Amino acid sequence: MLGQVTENISYEPPREMNSDIVKFHEPMSKALLQISELKDWNPKALLTKAKKILENDCIKYIGNEKYNCLPIANYNKTTHVISFNNSAIGHSCTCQGFREKLKSFEDGHSDIRPICAHILAVIQFRFISDYNGKGNCEVKE
Ligand SMILES: [Zn+2]
Repeated sequence: MLGQVTENISYEPPREMNSDIVKFHEPMSKALLQISELKDWNPKALLTKAKKILENDCIKYIGNEKYNCLPIANYNKTTHVISFNNSAIGHSCTCQGFREKLKSFEDGHSDIRPICAHILAVIQFRFISDYNGKGNCEVKE
C-alpha cells in the first residue's frame, strides 16, 4: 500500500449506482472530494451542482459523443453542450465558466485542467449508466 492512506471503512459495492452515491465511486468525483476549497474554486460546489443536474434528469445524449445539459426549471435557462473527449484535449463545455477557465489554463495562469459541473455531471451520468448496465446482467430478481 506504498504510503497510501486507507480508510477503515468497508462496504459492499452498491447494487445500483445513483446520483446520491456516485461521488463516492466515480474516480473524478472521488478526486474532487479530496481537494479542499481553493481561493476561487470550490470542488464541493461542483459536486453539489452535478448532483442537482442528475436529479433533474438534465443530461441527454445527442450523438457523436456530445451531450446536452438541459436547464433546471426555476434555476437556470441555458442549455449547455458538452463534448466528451478522453484524449489529451479533454472534455469541453459551452458554458461561460468553462470557457473562462479554459482560457486561463491555456494562457498558463492555471495548472488545473478546467472542469465544470456540466462536464462532471456527464462523467457521472456515464459512470452510472455503465455501472447499472453491468449490474443488470448480474443481478437476478
Ligand atoms: Zn459547463
